Amino acid sequence: MVRQKVILVMIDALGDAVARAQCGYLMALVEAGQARLWRMQSVLPSLSMPAYTSLHSGTPPAEHGLVSNDLEVMAPVPHVFSIVREAGGVTAAVAERLYALLFNAAPFDDVEHLEVVEGAGWVTHGCFYTEVRHTRFNPSMLGDHDICNSATLLVRRHAPDYLLVHSAAADAVGHTFGADSFEYRHQVWNMDNELALAIPVWRAAGYRVLVTSDHGMSAEGRHGGAEEGMRPVPFWDICGREGGEMPETVSQLAVAPTILEIMGLPIPETMRGVSLV
Ligand SMILES: [Zn+2]
Repeated sequence: MVRQKVILVMIDALGDAVARAQCGYLMALVEAGQARLWRMQSVLPSLSMPAYTSLHSGTPPAEHGLVSNDLEVMAPVPHVFSIVREAGGVTAAVAERLYALLFNAAPFDDVEHLEVVEGAGWVTHGCFYTEVRHTRFNPSMLGDHDICNSATLLVRRHAPDYLLVHSAAADAVGHTFGADSFEYRHQVWNMDNELALAIPVWRAAGYRVLVTSDHGMSAEGRHGGAEEGMRPVPFWDICGREGGEMPETVSQLAVAPTILEIMGLPIPETMRGVSLV
């Protein structure tokens, strides 16, 4: 039985500096003492697949072995989805295809795995997407409004114990225009604006909401290494009280044990990070 339901919002390629400068709604919660905000150091390589796995397993890439995006395998270590499921809980995700691959079934089938209802994998209910391209001529691929509303629909229909909400738009825009661009900054603000509409609804439904990212983005539109802008990301815990900006920089490996501690579930030894709560 789960003590507290959790939603993790993962805004892909959201660097710490742009987050603090553009996320007016999330920063308002910090200023009002309703959320705690940490500066968090992403794992290396600062890439999606290594970081998605580490965010959910608390295990560094050098240990879990998923050290590139060019792998078609499932996460080989215990993770939040498997632990919630094994405890009898219900999980859900609105996320890019890599999440379906890591936590439900490999290889990913573009038709069969796009939607999961009452599935037998670690993600009980899944709404997955594959199109995250962004070009100057095709901005319509970005669906933060739909992503947040799909998450709200999952909350209404299935009331999952753990729900992952993953937006990949800032990553796509950042790769096209670079981190030092109007387009990237505006995309980050846009997601914050969608969260301003969605988070109060999720909190009213009884969820504790956490917001973070997998990695940052360099000025020239890249990530993967340790160059300026690639590793620091924000971590918000919208806990409702005793909020504020935390002075220390924490490891990304803290996310999974933090989620499990909030939910009242056991933290396995493979999780190297320490809970923030
Ligand atoms: Zn990227």
